[in-house]
Amino acid sequence: MTDSAKPLAANMAANTHADCIFCRIVRGEIPARKVYEDDELLAFHDISPVAPMHLLVIPKQHLSTLYDASEEHHHALGSMLMLAGRIAREQGAAEGFRSIINTGRVGGQEVYHLHLHLIAGPQHLGPMIVPTQQAPKHNAPHQ
Ligand code: 5GP
Ligand code: ZN
Repeated sequence: MTDSAKPLAANMAANTHADCIFCRIVRGEIPARKVYEDDELLAFHDISPVAPMHLLVIPKQHLSTLYDASEEHHHALGSMLMLAGRIAREQGAAEGFRSIINTGRVGGQEVYHLHLHLIAGPQHLGPMIVPTQQAPKHNAPHQ
């Protein structure tokens, strides 16, 4: 059977990384408080919540960062955004939530398996980024 003829779930399961903590959650080797699962996505509670609701939505297929996204991830990435509102609402966030994908060192990414944070109050979450220093006037990354 060719790869493309295999069932979707089998392809997803094959593309996991042995030592990746979120791949280990996908494979059931590490427990997680799951709130949603289908063939391509998994959503679960963050182990160190920064707000009353803090969920992570991940593709089951390993993908390190947004830098590494390509056509093969198109459907899963679209599904993550499409399902975010439904998952957040089902978990009690009826009046809004924040969605964040951290990328790389500058983005503060700690786990290198792409994940969408879904974070909610009930109170307003405050400013998106709290400045820690005065930004230079011309702050383009390449300068
Ligand atoms: P990042 O900084 O990479 O955007 O976020 C990684 C997130 O993963 C953090 O919020 C952290 O608390 C969460 N996390 C790290 N290890 C685990 C784990 O083993 N289980 C769960 N549920 N969350 C984890
Ligand atoms: Zn992984």
